[in-house]
Amino acid sequence: MAAVGRASLYLGRMTYAAVARVNADLVHARVSVADLRRELAAIAESTVLVPDDEHDAEGSTIGFERARVAALLAQSQRRVADLEAAVERVRAGTYQSCERCGGDIGILRLEALSATRVCRCCASRCP
Ligand SMILES: [Zn+2]
Repeated sequence: MAAVGRASLYLGRMTYAAVARVNADLVHARVSVADLRRELAAIAESTVLVPDDEHDAEGSTIGFERARVAALLAQSQRRVADLEAAVERVRAGTYQSCERCGGDIGILRLEALSATRVCRCCASRCP
């Protein structure tokens, strides 16, 4: 009797592992967005209490920290949007199809890069 492993569980053309991965990545990305929003709110509150931090000789300024967290938040929000689009492609049955050439993205690539829309060849612009 053949062993039944994770890779043998298919949902159409999709493996269970790939679907689980995109869902887990989306949950993680949403948690990151929530954490960064809280961090940004805490920075905003701290500037209400101590408005002038620009003369602190030690460490980064609040302005720098606010810009850093805002950039991370924007990046995490883009990641959530990319992963939500990936979940929609799973539902539509197009998750494994390259958006440029229509070819197969490949399950290993999807397991590594769950939000990718293109195959390795299109990503690297090979002929
Ligand atoms: Zn392609």
